[in-house]
Amino acid sequence: MTSVILPPSTIGIIGGGQLGRMMAISAKQMGYKVAVLEPATLSPLAQIADAEINAPYDDQAALHQLLSISDVVTYEFENINSDVIQACESVGYIPQGHRPLALTQHRYIEKTAINNCGFKTAPFEKVNNFSQLKEAVKKIGYPSILKTVTGGYDGKGQWTLKSELDLQHVQSVVENQTCILEGFVPFTKEISVIVTRGTNKQVETFPVVENVHHNHILHLSIVPAKIEPHLIKKAEIIAATLIEKLDFIGTLAIEIFVIENDLIINELAPRPHNSGHYTIDGCNVSQFEQHIRAICGLPLIEPKLIQPTIMVNLLGQHVEYTLNSWIQPEFSDAKLHLYGKEEMRVNRKVGHITFMNESEEKLEETVNQFLINFPK
Ligand code: AMP
Repeated sequence: MTSVILPPSTIGIIGGGQLGRMMAISAKQMGYKVAVLEPATLSPLAQIADAEINAPYDDQAALHQLLSISDVVTYEFENINSDVIQACESVGYIPQGHRPLALTQHRYIEKTAINNCGFKTAPFEKVNNFSQLKEAVKKIGYPSILKTVTGGYDGKGQWTLKSELDLQHVQSVVENQTCILEGFVPFTKEISVIVTRGTNKQVETFPVVENVHHNHILHLSIVPAKIEPHLIKKAEIIAATLIEKLDFIGTLAIEIFVIENDLIINELAPRPHNSGHYTIDGCNVSQFEQHIRAICGLPLIEPKLIQPTIMVNLLGQHVEYTLNSWIQPEFSDAKLHLYGKEEMRVNRKVGHITFMNESEEKLEETVNQFLINFPK
């Protein structure tokens, strides 16, 4: 039988960053209490949590302590030791379990699982050494992208190979860690879909997002995505089918390349995602509230876009400019979210700002005006 966890029960969150903080804001609005496990003090989530445990994410004793004070435990990122989480599953209630971690923290396992569910990825080959790299290049060709199987994000741990000349540059990379060589996808757009599945097995999909990246870091999320309606439908079906076939609970973000009339899945994240932040202001339910509902066994809400929305991601270097603009009358109805990070470091995600308008044309005009002098 599904456990229904009602407020004021305690939700334990592994990881104290902005995703955990926004989960906690939703949880606390509903009357839940929140506990966090995070090595750093003063984390974005700890600032609003009811209880804080400062220890590494894979510290067994600390995890047991979190489980003992929580009625349900979730995670805000995927790079947590999945064996340690598996060992904790008999100690307390972690409805998502360790499987989504094991699957999404390893690119080879992830892409193989996506293919096994019947969906397309770029062609890929596992590479453990230089001779395997040369063999892989024969199959995949140029241009291709070499990616470490673990640990990469926002373009880190990735090398584009354009010709044989580039092979020497990555020799030490492939000799020191397992990688995959992936075919380059000449995509026209990047989109993502956030989908949630409750412990009650209900599945709900959020409106499809079009994403624009700068230097591999998300810059804009635009909703509705400007792609053919049949591709929107296809992306929604992929999301709902994938979360069921993978038998995941909670929120899953699916990053997808659009190429002509087709969709190619790039990667998965078993948690709320940066490209879903628009849902806080743009939808009748946010990805964070939906995630809390999912793990607590509450009914999910069918997501609806209230009006066209564009989210602009804010990195450390963007905050001063944004604060100055936001207080001007033309941008004052934009919704500002800052995550309470101690340092406004360059290229570090520190917040986002959401613009909405019933007219897509007016919305684009306002965002373009806001971005005119946006720092690089
Ligand atoms: P990832 O870390 O896999 O999400 O990749 C970061 C970004 O690199 C993506 O958002 C794409 O813009 C680009 N990228 C990654 N893989 C590919 C690929 N196979 N073909 C073309 N571009 C890619």
